[in-house]
Amino acid sequence: MTTEDCLFCQIIAGDIPADIIYESDDAVAFRDINPQAPTHVLIVPRQHIATINDLTDEDCDTVGKLFMAAQAIAKEEGLADDGYRTVMNCNAAAGQSVFHIHLHLLGGRLMSWPPG
Ligand code: 5GP
Ligand code: ZN
Repeated sequence: MTTEDCLFCQIIAGDIPADIIYESDDAVAFRDINPQAPTHVLIVPRQHIATINDLTDEDCDTVGKLFMAAQAIAKEEGLADDGYRTVMNCNAAAGQSVFHIHLHLLGGRLMSWPPG
C-alpha cells in the first residue's frame, strides 16, 4: 500500500476530514469514527508505517512520541488520574483494520480485562 491509498495518510494530509485534536511534527491524533468509549482517539505517526512488524530501530523515537501524545491528550481529556487504555493492534488476529500504525487511546469508562 502506498500513502496515496492509505486512509490515515489521507487524513493527515487533510484530504479526508477527521476530528483532529492534536498535531505535532511527528504525530496527529483524531477521534475514532466508531468510538468504543466516551474518549476514543487514534494517535498516528505522520510517517506511514503499516504494522508493528515493520518498525525498525530508527522508528523508536516516533513510537515514543505517540505515547507522549497519549499522555498529553489523556491529561487534556481529564483521564489521567482515573486511568485510560492504550492499544496498538497488529495484523488480522488482533483486529487491525487500517494498515498505518495507530495508538488507540480509550477512556471515560471502566475497562475490563482481558480484552476481547
Ligand atoms: P484498528 O482496527 O486498525 O486497530 O483500528 C482502526 C480504527 O480506525 C477503528 O477503531 C475504526 O473505527 C477507525 N476508523 C476507520 N475508518 C475511520 C475514518 O474514516 N475516520 C476515523 N476517524 N476513524 C476511522
Ligand atoms: Zn499511511
